[in-house]
Amino acid sequence: MQYPHRLNRDGSIDAICPRCYATIAECLSESDLIREETNHMCDPARLEYYEEERRRAMKKGPEGTGVTLRDPSSLAGGGVSRR
Ligand SMILES: [Zn+2]
Repeated sequence: MQYPHRLNRDGSIDAICPRCYATIAECLSESDLIREETNHMCDPARLEYYEEERRRAMKKGPEGTGVTLRDPSSLAGGGVSRR
């Protein structure tokens, strides 16, 4: 698996797991990172948590926008300036 690396200001490199979003390792050399990456096992609890969050966000998305984006001022204005 390919892990994205993040270069820190102090010169160390973080490897982030794209599946469980955990910082796998913080090392000063790429070879150390690769060793940590190969040892990494995703925490099933974390995976489940992020999977649930993703599902909830997808479910909420289209439904929520229809309700929450309704402008309350248009309702009030309509009441005052009625033809
Ligand atoms: Zn992981």
